[in-house]
Amino acid sequence: MKPIKFTVLLLLIFSVFYLKAQQEKSNFTQQTSFNKKRTTVSSLKITTLSTMLANRGLGEWGYSALVEVDRKKILFDTGSKPETVLKNAKELGIDLSDVEDVFLSHNHRDHTGGLLTLRKELKKVNPKALSRVHVGMGIFSHREDRENHMLSMKKELEADGVEFIIYSNQHELFPGVWITGPIERIHEERNWSGNVQIKTDNGTIEDNIPEDQSLVIDTEDGFVLISGCGHAGIINTIEHVRLNIHEEKVFAAIGGFHLVNASDEHLKWTADKLLEFGVSKIIGAHCTGINSLYMLRTMLNMSRSDAVVGSVGDSFDLKNGIQAGYIAR
Ligand SMILES: [Zn+2]
Ligand SMILES: [Zn+2]
Repeated sequence: MKPIKFTVLLLLIFSVFYLKAQQEKSNFTQQTSFNKKRTTVSSLKITTLSTMLANRGLGEWGYSALVEVDRKKILFDTGSKPETVLKNAKELGIDLSDVEDVFLSHNHRDHTGGLLTLRKELKKVNPKALSRVHVGMGIFSHREDRENHMLSMKKELEADGVEFIIYSNQHELFPGVWITGPIERIHEERNWSGNVQIKTDNGTIEDNIPEDQSLVIDTEDGFVLISGCGHAGIINTIEHVRLNIHEEKVFAAIGGFHLVNASDEHLKWTADKLLEFGVSKIIGAHCTGINSLYMLRTMLNMSRSDAVVGSVGDSFDLKNGIQAGYIAR
């Protein structure tokens, strides 16, 4: 073998070993972050600000909730119509002007429609109000034959000093407060219309709302999960949390779980999995579906105070559990 050929061969072998070592090193980093010491929160209150059912404030097809956790506040989604969350908060006597972090579960207008109005109004009181928006990777993707209003909204809000933070993985926002980031779709929980396509460089792909993400709060009793529209699937979401954050039970599930169209068979499968994960409290708001929530309640053998239909002004907190709205008791 000529010396030059031999050197090339040696370089090649060295590169393969180097790359392998780097890969192992990065796997290790992921593993150490997974095994990071668990922090639990000591106070938590979640109040529904937008959903269909309301005996106080306005009901709409949409979702929003205020999360108050260890003296921090996060606005989870912003409702559908521009004014709903603003008006409902006022009617419920809730001040949103000190909320600086907004979490958006996905791009759909029924979860993001209130953001511009809320920012415009609340910054009059606090210039930092709603100035950090936490979103999942894919939220700005171009959809075919449909305007993704997130693009124009981002432009307008960024010009106003608002920062968008994009997640492609799980992230601990505050101690014990986790953003799931986008969810692997392990199980067939097809919670999307199938009518929309995402434009990519290699043509179009079905829009399964890849950015869909949830918030999970780690407590002494296990995780509390808050979901916007559940496009990724409640079971896929819980499995993602247990695999990527901590293998804890999820004792409370709150928000929209997109079970409105679910077959009896799918509901039974969902109920069995929820039982396995330790879910013992549910506020099924928005697209969970009223009938589906009642069926889940029966299948899970839960009481009417532990599995309720979400309504504007209802709440969950660590001390008192679920405080259902008057109409949903
Ligand atoms: Zn949606
Ligand atoms: Zn929705």
